[in-house]
Amino acid sequence: MNEYDSDRIKNAIDAEPTDDPKKADIIIVNTCAIRDKADQKAFSSLGKYKHIKANNPDAIVGIAGCVAQLYGDKLLKKIPHLDFVLGTRSIPKLPEIISKIERDKRRTVETSYDLEELFEVEPYHKEGKVTAFVSVQQGCNKRCTYCIVPQVRGDEVNRPLNDILRETTNLVNKGVREITFIGQTVNSWKHDGNKFGDLIRAAGDVEGLERIRFTTSYPRDITKRMIDAMKDVPQVCHHLHLPVQSGSNNVLSNMKRTYTREWYVDTILRLKDALPDITISTDIIIGFPGETDRDFQDTMSLMKEIEFESSYSFKFSPRPGTVAAEYAEEETVKADIASVRLSELQAFQKDITEKKNLSRVGQIEKVLVEGESRNDPDVLSGRTDHNRILNFNGAKDLVGKTVKVKVTEGLLNSLRGELII
Ligand code: SAH
Repeated sequence: MNEYDSDRIKNAIDAEPTDDPKKADIIIVNTCAIRDKADQKAFSSLGKYKHIKANNPDAIVGIAGCVAQLYGDKLLKKIPHLDFVLGTRSIPKLPEIISKIERDKRRTVETSYDLEELFEVEPYHKEGKVTAFVSVQQGCNKRCTYCIVPQVRGDEVNRPLNDILRETTNLVNKGVREITFIGQTVNSWKHDGNKFGDLIRAAGDVEGLERIRFTTSYPRDITKRMIDAMKDVPQVCHHLHLPVQSGSNNVLSNMKRTYTREWYVDTILRLKDALPDITISTDIIIGFPGETDRDFQDTMSLMKEIEFESSYSFKFSPRPGTVAAEYAEEETVKADIASVRLSELQAFQKDITEKKNLSRVGQIEKVLVEGESRNDPDVLSGRTDHNRILNFNGAKDLVGKTVKVKVTEGLLNSLRGELII
């Protein structure tokens, strides 16, 4: 989501990107507020540009994204070298803001939610890139008690189908072969009587599009219509990121996740019934207020029952303005207890991920080649249908093509293989 917004920001100001902040005329720090750590990172990044502004007073320094939305004009007081604060729904207003600052030398805050052309600026696309995100939804209508997203991104707004298809088709015409639809609860997308399953079917008709992914799905919004579309549209990749957050019904209820553990497990069974080879990854929050040892054991038993392909796990971080930040002191799970639980869960997941990667050795996977691998230009890198990174030796002109690769090694974060055609 933030990567997509950063690329929209790049396009909005239509400027040449530079890796050297000393040479930049405009520096914009795009931020995330989901956990306290991300929030702190925003401030330390901004701090780095203080001396640049001191050496070059004409440079414009701005903050964008969720931290900008959360603190608004307080940021101007706190950070003297900051020129503007740009909220999460204000990217289309960026050119106007920059020219105003250049003209009037006045610091600006723009965090209103009243913009109608919410999806207007499409993201910068790097030539030759074969995968791309397309936003289908902004904001969120769920009210998970730990989550700051509705506060900083507003209520759910769904993008019209034709807009989504136009952006998708444009990208495919530029050489993109894989699109990932993004939204906070992407599968709750609906517009003009169409539901998410209909969006998948429509995307399946875009000529030249080879792969369709989407993230992040909200468990309660997985419907038969969606599963049927996933089954019927051959471009849909057989991997789903489906955050469960906890395996304890007590905790799930306190989080207001609107489903039970049993319902979640049953949903996975329904998905596997339709798509037997589907892989599932998840997010887990450890140490939610009131989480007992028993609750944590319930989460561990769910991890064992499902054996997720991979998982992201986080220690609960109280966020300003959320219900869970107001829980009584005695509900707080002590930091050392949360750390022990997190380590236990992560060690377990590591073993499962390794085991799953090893089990793929000998199999032939279809890989969309995305580019050279990060560490070695002779090695090509792509992802399998199941979203595993697979590296193999091959010629550069395979980038953008879908090839067959035999897996020879299963590592913790990736697979290695040999090209077989
Ligand atoms: N709706 C978005 C939210 C992204 S946040 C999406 O699902 O993509 C990604 C993950 O961060 C969440 O699934 C949750 O596990 C975690 N998270 C959110 N708020 C948190 C908090 N206050 N403390 C710790 N982890 C949190």
